[in-house]
Amino acid sequence: MSDSSKTTGAGSDTPSIAFADRVTRIAPSPTVAISSLALDLRAAGRDVIGLAVGEPDFDTPPHVKEAAIRAIHDGHTKYTQVDGIPELKEAVAEKFRRENGLDVSAANISVGTGGKQVLFNALMATVQAGDEVIIPAPYWVSFAGITEVAGGTPVFLASGFADGLKLSPERLEAAITPRSRWVIINSPSNPTGMGYSADELRAFADVIRRHPNLMVISDDLYEHLTYDGFEFSTIAGLAPDLADRVLTLNGVSKSYCMTGWRIGFAAAPVPLVKAMAKLQSQSTSSPGSIAQHAAVAALNGPTGFIAENNAAFARRRAMVVAALNAMEGVSCPAPDGAFYVFADIAGLIGKTRPDGKVIGNDSDFAAALLELAEVAVVPGVAFGLSPAFRLSFAAADDVLQTALGRIAEVIASLR
Ligand code: PLP
Repeated sequence: MSDSSKTTGAGSDTPSIAFADRVTRIAPSPTVAISSLALDLRAAGRDVIGLAVGEPDFDTPPHVKEAAIRAIHDGHTKYTQVDGIPELKEAVAEKFRRENGLDVSAANISVGTGGKQVLFNALMATVQAGDEVIIPAPYWVSFAGITEVAGGTPVFLASGFADGLKLSPERLEAAITPRSRWVIINSPSNPTGMGYSADELRAFADVIRRHPNLMVISDDLYEHLTYDGFEFSTIAGLAPDLADRVLTLNGVSKSYCMTGWRIGFAAAPVPLVKAMAKLQSQSTSSPGSIAQHAAVAALNGPTGFIAENNAAFARRRAMVVAALNAMEGVSCPAPDGAFYVFADIAGLIGKTRPDGKVIGNDSDFAAALLELAEVAVVPGVAFGLSPAFRLSFAAADDVLQTALGRIAEVIASLR
């Protein structure tokens, strides 16, 4: 490889390493970068409030922890089946039947090290160089990153605040080409929290039905985190005739407060499940045995804590939306689900900080919040829509109140 941009070591003591294209064509996750910067500042003694990261602040429920401890004592400490132990596949299949109306058995289930690995396996197993993956924007950063690792081309369909941050079936139809392999629907959405109603999903299904080569990833990670009576639906449940080309992605990370346990899963056509297992057998093999037993307990156990957590999230959502909308130049729609708000800051662009620096874009705004307010948020550019920012309200009420007070002060200081 002759391109020097594909090597490291210039000006350092380490020898140059020639990296593969699949690494050089992708950027590190911008959300992880901001969270890391916030952690560095905190380690340097600064009082940074991190509202950039996407995980519940609640602890894993006690009955799930106990199941993990029991799994250790019972000797479930060995390698397992590559894409999930039979008890977990059965529990996942039962979850999809019970909660989503899917007609699936354990053979349709793939379990991986987080929903992220399951998504990675699905795209790596199916996307060839030049294939297109349709990604409604604003989008979760990994949809684009994994598509690029797989050699595919992300086709972003951006919707703005005027469209309610949602894709229309007409725009989906217009974007489909003979190279379109997948469309990814993520409802409720990371980063916007917007959700598609059953009728909106049925309209997407009508489009997809007309294009037999197009497959669908339905990313349902935020299924259980919804507000104000929003009713979650998923496309495979609404359109069973499309089941042979839908991958329904879910996991325990968000709803069950288990981000660190790294268990995600999907329901998919059997040949795809097998191809994904083949890939996983050459990378991580099985997810952690103990975490798999904990996930069985999560899926089969009591779920009352989800409603309790949601009551807290709903309270925080109301507080954050009201506070942001009271700030001049900020406009913040109320999300249907997840634990993010995505706020429009068009009214702040071009303003000047007390130190004379100009807020020219949303990255400048996020930098201003980090430097002047010590609050970490993610600029909209990371998710494909500017000028905006994403703030996670998965933090304690008093922490959120302090952060909102500091953000208001920074905004009031802009001229
Ligand atoms: N999908 C969406 C939309 C997400 O926001 C995330 C995590 O942030 C995931 C999938 C993957 O989660 P995990 O790998 O923890 O299961």
